[in-house]
Amino acid sequence: MAKSVTLKNISKAFMNDKGEKSYAVTGVNLEIGQGEFVTLLGPSGCGKTTTLRMIAGFEDITEGHIYFGDEAVDQIPPNKRDCTMVFQSYALFPHLNVFDNIAYGLKIKKMTKPEISSKVESVLDIMNLQDYRDRMPNQLSGGQQQRVALARALVMEPGVLLFDEPLSNLDAKLRLVMRDEIRRIQQQIGITAVYVTHDQSEAMSMSDKVIVMNKGMIEQVGTPMEIYQRPKTKFVADFIGTANFLEGTVKGTEDGRLLVETSSGVLRIRRDGYKAGDRVIVVIRPEAVSLAKGSQHQGVVKKSVFMGQTQEYEVLFDGQLFQITEHNPIQEKVYSVGTSVSLQFAEDALHVI
Ligand code: ATP
Repeated sequence: MAKSVTLKNISKAFMNDKGEKSYAVTGVNLEIGQGEFVTLLGPSGCGKTTTLRMIAGFEDITEGHIYFGDEAVDQIPPNKRDCTMVFQSYALFPHLNVFDNIAYGLKIKKMTKPEISSKVESVLDIMNLQDYRDRMPNQLSGGQQQRVALARALVMEPGVLLFDEPLSNLDAKLRLVMRDEIRRIQQQIGITAVYVTHDQSEAMSMSDKVIVMNKGMIEQVGTPMEIYQRPKTKFVADFIGTANFLEGTVKGTEDGRLLVETSSGVLRIRRDGYKAGDRVIVVIRPEAVSLAKGSQHQGVVKKSVFMGQTQEYEVLFDGQLFQITEHNPIQEKVYSVGTSVSLQFAEDALHVI
């Protein structure tokens, strides 16, 4: 049965080359609900894999506790924990065919032959692997091998399923297919899943909740939309998608909107929790700006690239290069390099931190 996972004040220190303690993860608190799909996302070295490995039991915890449901699992060895990990490298047994690879863990558990057979058959069905049941791993493509690796994890019916960058070895197109497939199966079975990736589009498209990590700590936990539209820090805004920033000072409120004075004029932003005098940073996504002729908020086009569905601009504005995306570009309305343009902000789409 799917289990919840709770991390209470988890830290992990490794010894560095000089024999000193160096923290890879510091004070992580996290609650993952039963059947939830969460992604640990962040730049290289931020502590995602170490956190996942502590949940699996492959790394000791330096401080804190981990619970599956109500049970503390810190002292339980990995093979006795109710979780299974899917690795980037697939880690299939080369001398066993697909059926036997999937059956392996059940045999170790000493299940009866009929039980094993019925469980493996049902996973082969779910994963659309029936046609490959007798093949050896070296007769499978990378994507098929990863499906077998996932099937081998699912057949164990773990309380928690862990994924360590499972799609990194696949080509871009197959990654998209596998992403949908993993999410479909996770929802179909209702399993709790913790997924590590540094690919933000993977995290955004698959997860109920995204956990953004930076330097061993959690920066923000939220739904993909919250993380994108309401980042709590500059780091999150910058790491998820593209963001432009303008510094400003809150002047007051008007009709439920904050009046934020920037060096390029006043912006009216729908946001609570700030008072007059607060220094803020306005987060402006590329699609929250459109270009027009005019004298307000003036900038100069430095780059203008047609991408099919969009026109991508870089505009020198307020002493910095603003990234701007216009959807459905029309030839007559495309601005070329060197043109003076007026930036128009979709104020409802602006955010303040
Ligand atoms: P990546 O995306 O590159 O895999 P990550 O976010 O998963 O990065 P971790 O692998 O968790 O990061 O590493 C976090 C930090 O801990 C890094 O600074 C790393 O060098 C360090 N670290 C990880 N494992 C060990 C180890 N066994 N001994 C010493 N330091 C380690």
